[in-house]
Amino acid sequence: MAPHRNDEADRGGRSKEDVHVSNSNEGHLLHRSLIDVPHFVKSASGIDLHLDNGETAIDACGGAAVAILGHGNEEVHTAIIKQLHQVSYVHTQAYTTSVAEELANVILKGNPYGLEKAFFVSSGSEAVDSAMKLARQYHYERNDCQRLHFVSRNQSYHGNTIGAMSLSGNVSRKIPYLGFGYPHVSHVNPPYAYRYQRPGETELEFTKRLLMELEEEFLRLGPQTIVAFIAETVIGATAGCVPPPSGYFRGVREICDKYGILLILDEIMCGTGRTGTYFAFEQEDVVPDIVTAAKGLGGGYAAIAGIYIHKKIIDQLRLGSNAFVHGHTYQAHPVSCAAALAVQRILRRDGLVERCKIMGELLGQKLRKELRDCKFIGDIRGRGLFWAIEFVKDRNEGTKEPFDPSIKFGYKVQEAAFQLGVAIYPGSGTIDGLKGDHILLAPPFTVTEDQLGRICQVVREAIEDQGRAY
Ligand code: PMP
Repeated sequence: MAPHRNDEADRGGRSKEDVHVSNSNEGHLLHRSLIDVPHFVKSASGIDLHLDNGETAIDACGGAAVAILGHGNEEVHTAIIKQLHQVSYVHTQAYTTSVAEELANVILKGNPYGLEKAFFVSSGSEAVDSAMKLARQYHYERNDCQRLHFVSRNQSYHGNTIGAMSLSGNVSRKIPYLGFGYPHVSHVNPPYAYRYQRPGETELEFTKRLLMELEEEFLRLGPQTIVAFIAETVIGATAGCVPPPSGYFRGVREICDKYGILLILDEIMCGTGRTGTYFAFEQEDVVPDIVTAAKGLGGGYAAIAGIYIHKKIIDQLRLGSNAFVHGHTYQAHPVSCAAALAVQRILRRDGLVERCKIMGELLGQKLRKELRDCKFIGDIRGRGLFWAIEFVKDRNEGTKEPFDPSIKFGYKVQEAAFQLGVAIYPGSGTIDGLKGDHILLAPPFTVTEDQLGRICQVVREAIEDQGRAY
């Protein structure tokens, strides 16, 4: 089976090769692959990707934590086709559709956690940019116009548009674009214990230190100049499935409230059930002002993302412009909304978020068991069906030294796993000048115990196979 490289996460400084521009004979499409032309997927069904060479790979990462129902769900297909016959497009400047309204109603029924309105767009990056602008507009409506600054975190990923890229803390994706971007952004350290917790520091001390650093950054900038703090509730692609330590987000919320700074939680990757609750923040005992969502929202059946907005912001808008001064031609696209509505209904009807939690615990146990003797494993972490394995050269040395980035260990493991019939998601993060490789597993919520067993077995074989060379 030919190797398949497909990554949208941090690539550890390999930015020049980020988009593959080839003069070979693969056609006119500008590919994003690192070295080879991506492998052709001829069809996909359930958890399987069927390749044009006749082979099949288990999709153990749901693309990039997208395909929560798996592939080829007939109910979703039917809903899309029905919507196409009904109304395929209207501009939301003057019109709405029952399918868009219903999607918002299904997700925000009963205003969960005070979230009152949804705004649907076509990609995660657009959702993040929308959240940035809405947060700024909130302060504007309050005549608090000096607030221009955003605080984000190192090792974060919020998207590729100029706004979202500016917020992101993964350096390698910004290298060709240094010097442009939204200028008023600064970054603090993330609650990524494996790399940032100091020797001898307890989890509580670590959490307190991070919160102190956050408050110091607010004070350094002048808290009255800050629009919002943005963070992934469970860190996704760049650092690799890092759940926050207990109490971290409660502390963040308190500090934000103290200075009138909004809290935006980016749940594009970790939300929509992926960590075992519909919103990842439910496990943190906090309520954000704006939530971003994407991947699992449409489950990959259509391009759709959204922001969910707290009443506090909506009330302020009502007192002022009475509109969000922002919009896209394809926002709340009826066909995308139909796909997402079908996905969200199935998720609820079939109890798939609960299933995700149960299968996620199983995946964690299986990974720990299968990889317990593997010396290249630095850390195994995750929540729900969202797990990462971080590599080190030799765990037994206790130095946490990662592989030389030029080896591209994570990508090699991805390639080896694919050859063995399992598609996983690679990643690498820039860690204070070091590069750390990890792989990410995020299978559909419909995954079976047998499939989890097979995935773990292949992952072990792929890691051991690659590790032997170093
Ligand atoms: N935020 C997070 C946390 C993400 O994981 C991603 C995508 N990986 C984005 C934003 C950007 O989403 P998109 O690629 O749909 O623009």
